[in-house]
Amino acid sequence: MDELLSIGDFSLRCDLSAKMLRSYAAVGLLIPAAVDGTSGYRYYSAGQLPRARLIAHLRRGGISVADIAAFFHDPSTATFDRWERELDAETASRREALAQARAAWTEEPLRLERRDTQTKGPVMAHKVVAGSATHQGGREANQDHVLTSDGLFAVADGLGGMQNGEIASRLALGTLQAAFDDERSREGLISACLAANRAVWEQSTIDGDEPTMGTTIAALGIMNDGPPVVVHVGDSRLYRYRKGRLERLTDDHSITADLVRAGELSEQEALTHPQRHILTRALGVAPEVDIDASDISCEPGDRLMLCTDGLFKALTIEQLESMLASTAETQEVVDELVTVAVEHEVEDNVSAVIIDVA
Ligand code: MG
Repeated sequence: MDELLSIGDFSLRCDLSAKMLRSYAAVGLLIPAAVDGTSGYRYYSAGQLPRARLIAHLRRGGISVADIAAFFHDPSTATFDRWERELDAETASRREALAQARAAWTEEPLRLERRDTQTKGPVMAHKVVAGSATHQGGREANQDHVLTSDGLFAVADGLGGMQNGEIASRLALGTLQAAFDDERSREGLISACLAANRAVWEQSTIDGDEPTMGTTIAALGIMNDGPPVVVHVGDSRLYRYRKGRLERLTDDHSITADLVRAGELSEQEALTHPQRHILTRALGVAPEVDIDASDISCEPGDRLMLCTDGLFKALTIEQLESMLASTAETQEVVDELVTVAVEHEVEDNVSAVIIDVA
């Protein structure tokens, strides 16, 4: 009789987890060689290792448990030939679909993601109409995300290489929305922002590697009663346009903003400062974060605008004021803003949400 191995030892030697081994035993793919009549512990024999390792390779190759069972029932080299043909066909079909997607996207590169939201329901203290637009601008990918839902509006500007920034900003806004839906209050919005921080932090550290993702966030919540509340971290902003004047309502968490506040740099100089991209706070780069929260006074006719730095760095205050003066539909105004900013700004993604107070 071969050497008997506990499920833990066997698992280490064949690269299949104990949980997988139990599931393969349950479907008859790999039955333990012995069982202890007293304790009920299962044992595998060393002679079963080649079969277990073959299963591990096939699973990593994407072969289903049912197909592996069929192969063991009638083993043949021809089966490997068929699996390879199927893999080639799948790869070819995915390549073709991707090529079609690239062609469609290239034909219309300036197309904007758009979403109109008419917030409804008498429960909210303010009735608003909102529109949003986001564009990759001069970058290869869009790491910004925008959110417009009933009574919650947000922008997020993801940080990190590869797709990390895109994942971080999407995850932050998804988490924010789900958590705010549970508790629509000032405190609820702050906790939702903290939950978004934790979600990005956990995603970032999932592999135990050095965290490499984060995001800014600026979010406006319309409450059931009381004033709207803005929460923000990083350098995405909220502005209020009222009677021809644009006013910034958030303070950036960045090196250049600190220098401007200290009187060592002008707003204009900050735009070209070598450290203009360095944030002093971001969401998801540590397990905890300080969130700025403020009540926003607003009245009918006010136009609130959330935006990422790609927008406000591309356009001057005068340009913004003249475009926000437009009486066009909310969505048309935000489309125009982002389109014009993209034409000016070659370095960054560009996003904005406009919320008109009715
Ligand atoms: Mg940006």
